Amino acid sequence: MKINIAIDGPSAAGKSTIAKKCASLLGYSHLDTGAMYRCVTLKAIRENIAFDDEEKLSSMMNNLSISFDSNGNVYLDGEDVSLLIRTNEVSMGASDVSKCLSVREKLVKIQQKIAENKGYILDGRDVGTVILPDAELKIYLIASSKARAERRIKEYKEKNIPFDEKVILEDIEKRDYQDMHREHSPLMKAEDAVEIDSSDLSIDELVNEIKKHLDRLGVHYD
Ligand code: C5P
Repeated sequence: MKINIAIDGPSAAGKSTIAKKCASLLGYSHLDTGAMYRCVTLKAIRENIAFDDEEKLSSMMNNLSISFDSNGNVYLDGEDVSLLIRTNEVSMGASDVSKCLSVREKLVKIQQKIAENKGYILDGRDVGTVILPDAELKIYLIASSKARAERRIKEYKEKNIPFDEKVILEDIEKRDYQDMHREHSPLMKAEDAVEIDSSDLSIDELVNEIKKHLDRLGVHYD
């Protein structure tokens, strides 16, 4: 029996990493919903649309295509933007753009259509609460701001993305605040989600935690 898994939590808590691991363990598909908000943001930057201009953002959404390939690369209007959407400018902008209700409504529709059959792992901010309220397993993944800042720095170094070390922690905390306090679909733990703190856990330890829940649900994995 296949299930759907929702993984929500603040930035750099390890959601994408763990979602990919679980996807390969279970033979499921992974959808990074944050990458979609990042694509919308990149397009808004390119088209000089202010992040709070709801009208222009909304009409831009009618003329935008986002797709993924099986390696997890992200395409915006056919262009591979996998790296371009990972800059700090796009991260912070995505947190502004994601306040816009019409952007959210359009992306949620696409996300729900993609995951209409079982066998999906979605990570984001509103997966357990809005996109897949019926997901059989909901994980709310948290970690201290310090642990998350360290991970972000490591990721930027690995991907050769320029960054300013001083602002990383500040930006993480600002983004948490914005994502948790916005009017529409704020980041919060779904009532039936399992909370896991990944601050002091290795990836393998985190995977083992999740395996316990898969066992509890009788879901088989390799
Ligand atoms: O997960 P990631 O850091 O790539 O997400 C970028 C931003 O997109 C988040 O800070 C959040 O504002 C927004 N987002 C959202 N809902 C989601 C996924 C991401 O609002 N499901």
